[in-house]
Amino acid sequence: MEFKNLGSTGLKVSSVGIGCNNFGRRCNLELTNEVVNAALDCGINFFDTADVYGPRGLSEEYLGKAIAGKRDDLVIATKFGMTMDDSGFKKGASRRYIMQTVEDSLRRLNTDYIDLYQQHFPDPQTPIEETLRALDDLVHQGKVRYLGCSNFSGWQVSDADWTARDLNLNRFVTAQNLYSLIDRSIEKEVMPACEQYGLGILPYFPLASGLLTGKYTRGSEPPEGSRLSSWGDRKKSALSDDNFDLVEKLTSFAEERGHSILDLAMSWLASMPSIPSVIAGATSKAQVQQNAEAASWQLTMEEMREVNEISAR
Ligand code: NAP
Repeated sequence: MEFKNLGSTGLKVSSVGIGCNNFGRRCNLELTNEVVNAALDCGINFFDTADVYGPRGLSEEYLGKAIAGKRDDLVIATKFGMTMDDSGFKKGASRRYIMQTVEDSLRRLNTDYIDLYQQHFPDPQTPIEETLRALDDLVHQGKVRYLGCSNFSGWQVSDADWTARDLNLNRFVTAQNLYSLIDRSIEKEVMPACEQYGLGILPYFPLASGLLTGKYTRGSEPPEGSRLSSWGDRKKSALSDDNFDLVEKLTSFAEERGHSILDLAMSWLASMPSIPSVIAGATSKAQVQQNAEAASWQLTMEEMREVNEISAR
């Protein structure tokens, strides 16, 4: 397993991480343990969860149980800000809410500190200065080591960086955004901003929910038990003809070079210097092993250029 620095920090994370949004949903506690142990066996040290996953706390709770006794060797990322109750008050990025919700995450994860604490979505109703000051206090209190943002636009990444610099506060060191061979829209604004200010990019949905693993084929129903099989009508946009056109071209490109589309999806991301870790989700030991191995294809500059051309749309 390769290790990379998390953005411009000195913290090393495995170039393949585990996205934990299946824990508490598709993975019960037993399966969560299996996935986490498989990850540790592959040398993975980076786990990304959120307070809201599971739903509402169960992913953090299961992850906390699965890493008991091993926590200090691992890098645990979680997030805050999405709605955590039906009243509509437990959400956002105000100082009051952050100070409350971090305690809930620490308790569920059964840990004294969070390595990477990420704002899940921008909060247009809270000034970024208030959010950054509260997060900076958490770093000084030792409850949080590093800060990250998620789903920020390019200007929001820049604004947060300049606000933190101006006020001498800890800055966001990562940006977690949707990014895969199926959706490259962050390349226009978000990636240049991250590269300019030294934020590492953590791509979410790196496998497009499984479409980039080869498990879904045009004209066939999704395999029983797969994620998209439970999506009802929502699966139509994921399994569109446009997406299959692209998947088929990418599959041919990979197979001509003795690789699978999964290898290509993971390695294309892992090859980028601005991406410290590819946080694919998994629902079995076998998937974790496949994903960990899939990221080891060192694409040449020419191969990267060709893939970028094929996947441009
Ligand atoms: P993903 O990584 O694109 O897809 C994961 C799914 O693909 C798995 O649940 C599994 O689905 C299937 N899969 C994985 N490896 C496979 C393999 N080797 N062979 C066949 N199928 C395989 O999507 P994701 O897990 O939703 O996203 C990754 C992580 O990003 C999340 O866990 C979460 O931590 C983060 N995330 C963040 C945000 C945000 O707003 N910041 C949003 C979404 C996700 P089956 O269930 O079919 O087995």
